[in-house]
Amino acid sequence: MRSFPAPLRLRLDSDALVSNWQWLARQSGAAACGAAIKADGYGLGAREVMRRLIAAGCRDFFVSNWHEAEQLETLLETGTCLSVLHGVREEDMPHARISRAMPVLCSPGQIERWKAAGGGECHVMVDTGMNRLGIDWRNDVAALVEGLPIDTLFSHLASADEDSPLNALQRERFLAIKARVAARRYSLANSAGICLGRDYAFDLTRPGIALYGGIVHDLAARHIRQVVFPEAQVLQRRRVIAGDTIGYNATFRAPADMDIAILNLGYADGYLRSFSGCGAVFVEGERLPLVGRISMDLLAVDVTGKPGIGEGQWLGIDYALSRAAAASGLSQYELLTGLGNRFDRIWV
Ligand SMILES: *Cc1c(COP(=O)(O)O)cnc(C)c1O
Repeated sequence: MRSFPAPLRLRLDSDALVSNWQWLARQSGAAACGAAIKADGYGLGAREVMRRLIAAGCRDFFVSNWHEAEQLETLLETGTCLSVLHGVREEDMPHARISRAMPVLCSPGQIERWKAAGGGECHVMVDTGMNRLGIDWRNDVAALVEGLPIDTLFSHLASADEDSPLNALQRERFLAIKARVAARRYSLANSAGICLGRDYAFDLTRPGIALYGGIVHDLAARHIRQVVFPEAQVLQRRRVIAGDTIGYNATFRAPADMDIAILNLGYADGYLRSFSGCGAVFVEGERLPLVGRISMDLLAVDVTGKPGIGEGQWLGIDYALSRAAAASGLSQYELLTGLGNRFDRIWV
């Protein structure tokens, strides 16, 4: 915690986070439900997310690299598992061999590297059609992993948030690999994959975005709750006269006299300029529009007719993820992971 408060903060709803995980766990049926907490828990703060989800009963956590894992290892309890999705580079090996986190080996080279260092328990990623990370499903995967004790065999869906034939195709390819490669568990589904049904859950699911309030499937819209509520403080209230312009490049000209509030939030905090002209702030349940361009650290809101809004007041930014994504053209993932470290992160 900082010694005095920042002029911008994220209000983070613990109940909503846990309730989202519980819903995803129910949708996963008999499969265990983990949590992707890479990119600092999608911008919320991975340690705080992990602590809350462990308390809720979550046992499997996923990060991308070993620096992320290192920050979180101390939170691991018996029975909890932290997996590093990008596997092991040569540079990672000294740390990976002594770490309590486990690599998800992604390429023949990584498998060789792990075997040469003595092998031991690991996960393996198979690519079933996304062509990102993982052993190509057309390879002889069983021969490649021969002798390795595999905890979980993973694959990842490319289009789970769409009704695409690729989903069933990837699942079939994964089933074929499963029949030939022995592992303790099999895991395919991310948030959207969970919404495709129990056939996609296998033994372990790996939601990320939906934990944090992302709506990636119609089915989730009624159940997933918003977790992240950005708020910024008013630094100044000013009177603008008809014909005045507001902000850089004078993109907004006041059609009449109006009052504006200048808030301590800008694109350097991840609130990008694509919200200029479409972003909004909540005041007493009402949505007030932004006016003019968003600056690096500041933005302007039309508060005409709201005499109660003045210096020092906190206003909530409209950050319902699917609406904010549609308005700004940014993905729900970008909206969360871009939130900068000038925000205080306050869990309630
Ligand atoms: C990020 C990631 C996830 C989580 O995906 P969401 O779409 O955020 O639910 C799951 N599995 C892998 C391999 C990932 O990289």
